[in-house]
Amino acid sequence: MHYLMKDFNLHEVPISLLPSFLPPWKNSEFKYLNPFGSFDKSNTSDTIFQQLFADHRLGFHDFVPIYTDGSKLSSRVSFAVVFPKSVSAFTLLPFCSIFTAEITAVFYALKQILKCAIGIHAIYTDSLSVLQALNSLHCKSHPLVFSVLDLYEKLISQGFSLVFCWVLSHVGIAGNEQADSNARSATHFSHEPVPVCDLKKYIKSCLHMKWKIHWDQEIDNKLHSIKPIIENWSEDVNRKRNTVLTRLRIGHTRFTHRHLLLGEPAPTCPHCSCTMSVKHILIECKHFKIHRLRFFNTSSPTLTTMIGRHPHIYLFEFLKITGFYPHI
Ligand SMILES: [Zn+2]
Repeated sequence: MHYLMKDFNLHEVPISLLPSFLPPWKNSEFKYLNPFGSFDKSNTSDTIFQQLFADHRLGFHDFVPIYTDGSKLSSRVSFAVVFPKSVSAFTLLPFCSIFTAEITAVFYALKQILKCAIGIHAIYTDSLSVLQALNSLHCKSHPLVFSVLDLYEKLISQGFSLVFCWVLSHVGIAGNEQADSNARSATHFSHEPVPVCDLKKYIKSCLHMKWKIHWDQEIDNKLHSIKPIIENWSEDVNRKRNTVLTRLRIGHTRFTHRHLLLGEPAPTCPHCSCTMSVKHILIECKHFKIHRLRFFNTSSPTLTTMIGRHPHIYLFEFLKITGFYPHI
C-alpha cells in the first residue's frame, strides 16, 4: 500500500488505522431517536415533518441542538457542524466517501462538546447509515465508528448527557438546511486522517484507469478485439460452457495448443493447409461457411459477435456440428 501511495503522490496523506482488536465486552449502548415514525417521505408533506420535528424539540427543549451534515459533489467532499452560536465547515480529501464526511461531522461535534462545560446536547444527523453503523459495531466497522463511540463513552463517563437523533434532509428543518448549505460552501481544509477503506477504493480506481490507458494502446493484441473495454463480464451458470468460452476467448484450447506439451508439430487445417487457431475455426475456415450461414445468418461473423461480451446464442451448436466442442 505504501509503494502504491508513493506512486500516486499520496504518501503525505494521514491514515486513520482500524483498532487492532475489538474486545468482547465492548457492547455499546448506543441508541438514536427517530421523531418521524414510519411516515413515508414520498407521500407526506414537508409541513408534517416540520411539525413532528418541532414536537420532538419541545420534548427535548433543554438539549442544546447540534446539526451535522456531510456533502459529496463530484470531486468535492465536505462537512459542516451547526452549533447554536457558531458554524464550522471543512473540506476533506476528494476521494473520501459521503459516509466518511457524515461521520467526520459527528466526530467533530463530539470533540467540540468535550471542550465545553458539562451539559446536555442533542446531535442531529440526516445520515441514517451513520446512526445504524454506530448502533451495530463490529470488527469491520469504519474506523471513525470506533472513534465516535470511544468519545461518546468518554463524554458520558464525564457526566455529559447526549442524544443522537435522525433528521430528514430537504424537508425544511432549519438546522439541517443550514448544515447542508454550509457543508456545500466549505473552503477550509480539515486535516483529519483518511480511513484506509476510502484510500483503497481511490487507489483501485487509479489503477483501473492506468490499466485502461495501457489496454487502449494494445490494439495489436489479439485479445483486444474480443474485449476492448476492461469490465466484468457475466458468467454462464454452466461450468463446462464457461470453461469452453474462456478458452475460446483467450485463443488457447487443447486442440490448438496440445502440440506444445507433446512436442509435436502444430495442427494444420486439412481443408486450407494453414495452422489451426480458434480464429480460423470460428470465422476463417471456408469449410465451415455453410454452418456459419445456418447459425449466424452470415458467412463472415466477427469474433466479437461470437465470443464477445454477449456470446452468440448458437455458438455452442456451431462448435458441436463442426466437431470442435469435445476438443476444446
Ligand atoms: Zn480451414
